[in-house]
Amino acid sequence: MIEITFLGVGEAFDEELPNTSILFCSEVGTSAVTLLLDCGSTAPPQFWKEELHVDVLDGIWISHFHGDHSLGLPALLVRFWEEQRSKALTIIGQKGIDTFTRTSLDLAYPGFYKKVGFPIRYVEVEPDNEIEVFGLSLQAAENGHSQRDLALRIDAQGKSIYYSGDGSPTPEGMALAKGSQLIIHEAFHPEIEFHGHTTVTGAIEMAKQCGVPNLALVHMQRAERRKMANRMKQIKDLAGSLNIIIPEPGYRMRV
Ligand SMILES: [Zn+2]
Repeated sequence: MIEITFLGVGEAFDEELPNTSILFCSEVGTSAVTLLLDCGSTAPPQFWKEELHVDVLDGIWISHFHGDHSLGLPALLVRFWEEQRSKALTIIGQKGIDTFTRTSLDLAYPGFYKKVGFPIRYVEVEPDNEIEVFGLSLQAAENGHSQRDLALRIDAQGKSIYYSGDGSPTPEGMALAKGSQLIIHEAFHPEIEFHGHTTVTGAIEMAKQCGVPNLALVHMQRAERRKMANRMKQIKDLAGSLNIIIPEPGYRMRV
C-alpha cells in the first residue's frame, strides 16, 4: 500500500498555497520507505509540520531545477544538520542533480555542504533506465516543460503512482503512466496551455487515455484555482468515471 500526503499543492508564486510537494510512503517488505517528491522554496515548513523523526525520510526526488520544485533543499538539509540527523539521505533526479544540490546549498549556506554530518548520496534517473532504490522501482519520462522536467513513476509491491512534476504530457510520459493507480499532475490553467504547463482538461484526457482510475490535480495558477468550485460540475462531467481529486495541503490518500 502506498500512502500519499500532499504537503503543498500550489504553483511557484502563490501567496496562500505552498509549492507542490508530496510525501510518499510505502511498505517494502517489513519496513517503510519514505520519499519527498519535489522540495520547492516554500515546501520545507509543510514537511516540518509532519513532525517526523529526523531519520525517517529516505530520499528526495527533484523533478526539475525550477526553484518552486528544488530550492527548499538547502533549508531541509540544514535543519537535518541542526536536528543531528545521522542516516544517509538519497537525493534522486536527472543528470546534474548532485551539482545542483551542492551549488544551491553553497549559495544559501556557504560551507555547510561539508559539515551536514550525515552522508548525502545521489541517484540519477533518466528515461529508459529503470532504477531500483530502497526496493522501489523508479522510471522517468521527459515532459514538455520550459525547463527539462522528468515525470516519475514509482512502483512498490504491486501498486504504482505517476507524478508529472511540471509540463505537458508526452507520449513517453503517457506510456509510463499506464497501469498506475494514481496520476498526480500539474494543471496550471483550466484550458490554456502556456509557460510549458498543461491544463485541467489536458490532464483529464491524459488520465482517461491511460486508463488510470485516480487523478490528483496540483500546481494550479493561483487565481484560477480560487474559481475551481464554480467549475467542478464541468470538470466532473468531463472526467466521467475518473476520480478527480483537487487536494488541499495536508490531504492524505492511499492506493
Ligand atoms: Zn517548472
